[in-house]
Amino acid sequence: MQMPLIFDAHLDLAMNALEWNRDLSRPLSEIRQREMFMKDKPDRGKGTVCLPELRKGKIGLVVATQLARYTPAGSALPGWNSPQQAWAMTQAQLSWYREMERLGEMIQITNLDQLNSHLKLWENDTIDDESKAVGYILSLEGADSLVNIDYLYTAYEYGLRAIGLSHFGHGRYAPGTKMEGPLSDKGVELLKEMNSLNLILDVTHLTDEGFYQALDLYDGHVWASHHNVRQIVPNQRQLKDDQIKLLIERGAVIGGMLDCWAMDIRFIDTVSDPWQLDIRLEHLVDHWDHICQIAGNSLHIAIGSDLDGIFGTEQCPWDMNSIADLQKYTGILSKRGYSNQDIENIFSKNWLRFLNRAWS
Ligand SMILES: [Zn+2]
Repeated sequence: MQMPLIFDAHLDLAMNALEWNRDLSRPLSEIRQREMFMKDKPDRGKGTVCLPELRKGKIGLVVATQLARYTPAGSALPGWNSPQQAWAMTQAQLSWYREMERLGEMIQITNLDQLNSHLKLWENDTIDDESKAVGYILSLEGADSLVNIDYLYTAYEYGLRAIGLSHFGHGRYAPGTKMEGPLSDKGVELLKEMNSLNLILDVTHLTDEGFYQALDLYDGHVWASHHNVRQIVPNQRQLKDDQIKLLIERGAVIGGMLDCWAMDIRFIDTVSDPWQLDIRLEHLVDHWDHICQIAGNSLHIAIGSDLDGIFGTEQCPWDMNSIADLQKYTGILSKRGYSNQDIENIFSKNWLRFLNRAWS
């Protein structure tokens, strides 16, 4: 079997470029080397993602985020002190994506025509993968930075196509992971406007209350970009079975993520070691299996790795050194009884089918 195309639906590329100061156009070894003596973040020298590695793993298409949180006074979470500062950060991130486009490293995908011609490029074996641009669909992880609804229209104009209302903490539009409670009035209003623009609603990072409320209120297309199974990892960040059922009914796809904390309940942030606990890539297949059992098919699972999402090799499966190792799932999934068709579905076809519906 030829190396299949992979679509990864959650990467914080611009955040890494700007807040971690990583030149993602360079080889991974070089990026790691430049961080050798840096101690400001726990994942220094342990990054797994850069554009050459994406190409090496035939990850030709990604959902790439803008991400900047607003933090009110007194909050323990890091973030920006005003929505305007958060917006400015997302504009810097956009500017980085544009620079990557100018270099031919990346190309923005905002509609089906662009998607189809991009897929043709990656299907073309006469062109070396190393010279192909990585396609990206722009998504906003946490809506805090939209100062008001007018900013949504500006964002749509520059190509934003998906929004998750919340991230961690309070959230101006909805409370996020580790919080409780419903969407704010602003959040309800934002959903209405998102509907009118046919944006994709990303339910990842919503509270339970926010999840049900958002699904009730939103008529548009819904996905869970990076989300595992609560039955296996019992914390609020993951999806309950009835939530998985609701998502399947809505035609959603759920991206499996590779943060050890979301894969195995034994893993404790900044304390545990993936080697000691023997957390391997295969652990994610347990989550995928669970969703397939509920769906009765392999049409709702996919990859939303979240790699380098404020963690590196210290917090991802020990048999993953770079994002190119996602290709190991071909062997892992066939060993677990998945057909080649299932593997193609998981690698790219499920997200692509979703986008064909959402954008037609
Ligand atoms: Zn996230």
